[in-house]
Amino acid sequence: MTKPGQVVIVGGGVIGLLTAFNLAAHVEQVVLLDRSAVGQESSWAGGGIVSPLYPWRYSQAVTALAHWSQDFYPQLAERLFKSTGVDPEVHTTGLYWLDLDDEAQALQWAAREQRPLSSVSIDTVQQAVPVLGEGYSRAIYMANVANVRNPRLVKSLKAALVALPNVTIHEQCEVQGFVRDGDTVLGVTTIDGDVLGDQVILTAGAWSGELLKTLGLELPVEPVKGQMILYKCAADFLPSMVLAKGRYAIPRRDGHILVGSTLEHEGFDKTPTDAALESLKASAVELIPALADAEVVGHWAGLRPGSPDGIPFIGPLAGFEGLWLNCGHYRNGLVLAPASCQLLVDLLLGREPIIDARPYNPSSRIL
Ligand SMILES: Cc1cc2nc3c(=O)[nH]c(=O)nc-3n(C[C@H](O)[C@H](O)[C@H](O)COP(=O)(O)OP(=O)(O)OC[C@H]3O[C@@H](n4cnc5c(N)ncnc54)[C@H](O)[C@@H]3O)c2cc1C
Repeated sequence: MTKPGQVVIVGGGVIGLLTAFNLAAHVEQVVLLDRSAVGQESSWAGGGIVSPLYPWRYSQAVTALAHWSQDFYPQLAERLFKSTGVDPEVHTTGLYWLDLDDEAQALQWAAREQRPLSSVSIDTVQQAVPVLGEGYSRAIYMANVANVRNPRLVKSLKAALVALPNVTIHEQCEVQGFVRDGDTVLGVTTIDGDVLGDQVILTAGAWSGELLKTLGLELPVEPVKGQMILYKCAADFLPSMVLAKGRYAIPRRDGHILVGSTLEHEGFDKTPTDAALESLKASAVELIPALADAEVVGHWAGLRPGSPDGIPFIGPLAGFEGLWLNCGHYRNGLVLAPASCQLLVDLLLGREPIIDARPYNPSSRIL
């Protein structure tokens, strides 16, 4: 089954799909395996804010990926829309952070990083977002923050891949381990038999650590459950994203409003709970009182691929020739995806990387 230039990708979330999309033009064959349907896990469940929630609280490693991706998102979305007819809906609404404790640090970070973040008066916010609740006293605002409609993004990526003659997607195909010859990884074992390739890329999100255990490795990637609720309002109901006390509201173009999210350590359980529903509804109404009269039309949970400091693992794995990682994007996999997937492909093809790859090197961070 091996063909020179065949690359096997394990996991079809946004990271696996976009890695496949970026690689397809440069290798003979790409085979993408997912144990369920692609794009139905964290990449579907997320909110799609094209920014870390509090970007100034992250390391330069996360910032570098985020900035590259933020600049790239509009052209990625346009290209996918043109080629597939499915619009990922990059919606630039700006984001208001309300009553932050570390506002001064945020502003210092923005000055250093040359990001358009500034203090605004609460009157200004109330004028811009008339549905905002009372009782807030301070705000900062960044006008160029967008959100992407992530379920459409993954749908669009899948459609783009299906149209490529050298890409094969196998769904309902669970990977169980790796085929090895000494230090070389030759492919993966699946419930349907072995799939061989010259290179194997692990993009299995929160499940990546489980698969590496089969090689005796401890990858510090763990599932972090996040629950979200959805409202449907008029298209112009909420003009901007708003965030207070760790909870946020995200308007889609058609008036859907997402409110999230919880952070829970419950292993691989992703059952939505009544307690989270009530807590998210309370946050929604505190942020936007009119939501008390709106119906919750959706409630779900997803598993973020949690990693130390939210820094993803991107690159080859020393001691396992042919095995590459692109996983552990924690709360920021949607925003970081374009840069992460480009960086991985640059490294795999031996090209000059878009950014310094050292902070993401898996080999120095795995036990
Ligand atoms: C509530 C919530 C809100 C979020 N909000 C945001 C946000 O606003 N902005 C942002 O940037 N990020 C956000 N995120 C984080 C973001 O969704 C994730 O970081 C990102 O989706 C991770 O993508 P992934 O492709 O690595 O993982 P996933 O999307 O989880 O994909 C992993 C894939 O691997 C497959 N797989 C697993 N094991 C195997 C196996 N053994 N064999 C074959 N296939 C396998 C799974 O079926 C799945 O399809 C949020 C996440 C949640 C849960």
